[in-house]
Formats: sequence, structure tokens, C-alpha cells
Amino acid sequence: MTAAPALPATRTGVGRIEVHDVHKSYGTLEVLAGIDLDLAPGTVTVVLGPSGSGKSTLLRVINHLERVDRGFVAIDGDIIGYRRRGDALRELKEKDVLRQRTGIGFVFQSFNLFPHLTVLENLVEAPVSAQGRPRAEVEVEARALLARVGLADKADARPRQLSGGQQQRVAIARALATRPRVLLFDEPTSALDPELVGEVLDVIADLARTGTTMLVVTHEIGFARGIADHVVFMDAGRVVEQGPPAQVLDAPTHPRTRAFLDKVL
Ligand code: ADP
Ligand code: MG
Repeated sequence: MTAAPALPATRTGVGRIEVHDVHKSYGTLEVLAGIDLDLAPGTVTVVLGPSGSGKSTLLRVINHLERVDRGFVAIDGDIIGYRRRGDALRELKEKDVLRQRTGIGFVFQSFNLFPHLTVLENLVEAPVSAQGRPRAEVEVEARALLARVGLADKADARPRQLSGGQQQRVAIARALATRPRVLLFDEPTSALDPELVGEVLDVIADLARTGTTMLVVTHEIGFARGIADHVVFMDAGRVVEQGPPAQVLDAPTHPRTRAFLDKVL
């Protein structure tokens, strides 16, 4: 008999993402020109848009890796990076931001695993050091997560000993190890050799069925059609069009969405 899975890796019924009038410029370049989104708990949103349209910046703003110039992001009502003080927002201390960030799983295009740590240690690091959870309990859960992404036998390997697809699956398991409210993916398969894309998409699709709120930037349109509840098309720092996949992907109303889809399909 196999042991019951350790603990749920993600929390269902949580993870509402609100992006409210977010503006962000680099110098004179306005990269986010007033973004509004309200993503329901447990839904999967795919973000599409040409290179340079601000998709990565949007994810980095949600995670407070970048500061907004105006507006705010809230997850389950908690404003990211700030707290309310009367009518004003006061910036949080770094350690409070780090704690908030453990509620937001982030999977990067380039994996970003800690190269000097084993696979298991990569998963255990944040729950123990940033969340103060007991190492023994975290290790049990981390092994269950590795099994879930099909890498139970790689716990003691170093990242460099793994293929790109395996590394990205470790990165997904690591993002889950803090039991995040939401998961953000920034082009999770675009650094992979074509034959390794499928195994990573399969893991993401599996998670999408578990009721975790996910925001996925990808150019994989077929995949988007399969997993998305909601599709957002961005261009030049704005949300040009959003709605169910059948609408945005199959019957786009905006000429820029149509032009983009014609190119990638
Ligand atoms: P996307 O992910 O849609 O390709 P990005 O959010 O990465 O777009 O970038 C949007 C624009 O912002 C691009 O023109 C990019 O060059 C610029 N940009 C992104 N990050 C920085 C930065 N740290 N400093 C200056 N410009 C940046
Ligand atoms: Mg990007």
C-alpha cells in the first residue's frame, strides 16, 4: 500500500488576484499603462501578447519584484508590498514582503534553481527559512511534491545533473513547497528543447485541475485553450482584450489580438 499524500500543496478557495490601475514605467518607457484584472480563486488565466508588451513586468509587479508607480495588487485582499494606513499605502518592511512572497509561487523561464543545493534542498529552503516550518515536516511534503512532478528519484541530484524539463519540474515543485495562494508562470517552456515542452505542460495542466489560482504567460496557444478559464491579451502595456478562451482565441474582436494570433498559430 502506498502512503497517503503528505499534505495538500496548494490551498483551494483562496487566491483571488486583483490588479487595480497598475502603472509602471522605466524612465520614459511606460511598460504598464493602467492594468486592471480581477481573477477569481481557483481559476487559470493565460496571458498572451507580443514580446515587450509588459507580461513579465506584470508578473514581477504581482510578486513585488518590481514596485508599481501607481495602483496596487492585492491577493485575497492583502495589498502586496504595502499596508493601508488611513487613506494612504505604507511600504512594508523587506521581511514582511518576503513573507508575502512565500504566498506567491513563481516559475521563471530560466528555472532559477539554486545550483549548489540538491533538488530536495531547493524545495526545503523557503518553507524552513522564510516560513519557519519544521524541516522534518517540510521534507516529507517536499518528497510528495517531487513524486507529483514525477521526480521522486531525483531528490539528491544537483540541478546541473537534470534535463531542462526536469529542472523546470523541480522549479514547479519548489514553487508549491511554500503552499502558495497563487502560482505565476512566466513562459515556463520557452527555454526548453521542443521535446521537453510536453512534460512540463503536463505538470502545469495537472495543477490547473486542482483548483489552484494560476496566471500563466505562454505562447502555447493549444495549451492555453486546454487549460485556461480566462485569457488576457496584452499589447503595449495595456489589456487589449480578455474573456473566455473560446472568445479571445477563436473570435477575437480586437485587430491586434487577431494579428498576434495569426502570427503564432
Ligand atoms: P514581455 O514579457 O511582454 O516581453 P517585459 O515586461 O519583459 O515584456 O518588458 C516590457 C518592456 O519593458 C520592454 O520594452 C522591456 O525592454 C522593458 N523593460 C523590462 N524590464 C526593464 C528594466 N528593468 N529596465 C528597463 N526596461 C525594462
Ligand atoms: Mg517576458
